[in-house]
Amino acid sequence: MSDSKVILVTGGSGLVGKAIQTVLESDAKGDEKWIFVGSKDADLCDLNSTKALFEKHQPTHVIHLAAMVGGLFHNMSHNLDFLMNNIHMNDNVLRLSHETGVKKVVSCLSTCIFPDKTQYPIDETMVHNGPPHPSNFGYSYAKRLIDVMNQAYHNQHGCTFTSVVPCNVFGPHDNYNPESSHVIPGLIKKLQDITSAGGDTFTVMGTGRPLRQFIYSLDLARLFIWVLRSYNEIDPIILSVDEEAEVSIKQLAEELAKAYDFKGKIVFDTSKADGQFKKTASNKKLRKYLPDFQFTPFPQAIKESVDWYRQNHASARN
Ligand code: NDP
Repeated sequence: MSDSKVILVTGGSGLVGKAIQTVLESDAKGDEKWIFVGSKDADLCDLNSTKALFEKHQPTHVIHLAAMVGGLFHNMSHNLDFLMNNIHMNDNVLRLSHETGVKKVVSCLSTCIFPDKTQYPIDETMVHNGPPHPSNFGYSYAKRLIDVMNQAYHNQHGCTFTSVVPCNVFGPHDNYNPESSHVIPGLIKKLQDITSAGGDTFTVMGTGRPLRQFIYSLDLARLFIWVLRSYNEIDPIILSVDEEAEVSIKQLAEELAKAYDFKGKIVFDTSKADGQFKKTASNKKLRKYLPDFQFTPFPQAIKESVDWYRQNHASARN
């Protein structure tokens, strides 16, 4: 029997999917056929559409990235949509993977779905230990259910369905739409607009004090490929930069201003919500497997992301 893999990547047109495509340009293996699909190829909220996608490509492996994803403010106003759309997509993808005998599925949780009241650093054992932050409870419960489904598929049918838990991701091909973007692409677009209009004030929502771990999409892509090829647990694994690499929103704003060579004022609008103060995650489990993995230095990753947007803003997701 052939060991060749057909790897279907849902959400392949998004931030993380594009990064996996970029990394594979220099890390391809002859026995792997990678197929990247977006919402134009199938509506994963719809069972029949998902079924047709699986029939067409007959994957042996699936990286399931597709999700309704958004920043703090989009989540706060659309918790029901985040809950239901993500539940439907995850159910359909795992159901079809089971029914068609897919050998391995790697799905995606997030560090922002962990309990609101918890001890830090958070680790993989704490996902279900208490309610999530109220701002994104819809997204959080839908994501937590992936781990519940993975365990259930494994117990009842022996499936190898696992998940990874990235911290905040950023990089080329992000979503820069002010209504739905995460903090880094949101601020990049803001700076792009300010600098091209010759403005001198860069306003950042919130106090600037919250702390976050940010992973460069290309680093996350390298880790995703490793998980697909070599990680064999059902339990999730956190894919995050080290705890010491946590930065405040203020430091982030300064780094972005530097990348744009912006010399004006940075102002914090403290009337706007901060979200969770921090959600420090431990990458000890990852470090046990990959002690020498080198993350791209934050200033370099920010500069590359800013340079990409400066060159591509006309065609980017604005
Ligand atoms: P993006 O928003 O960049 O991409 C989302 C992807 O999902 C797109 O390819 C989109 O397709 C696809 N998609 C959305 N709805 C549907 C649908 N109904 N049917 C089929 N496809 C659909 O997401 P990211 O790359 O940022 O995120 C990838 C994964 O990583 C997600 O599971 C997310 O929850 C997780 N994650 C992301 C983090 C981040 O900071 N970005 C942090 C932690 C986890 P199209 O573009 O073609 O419409």
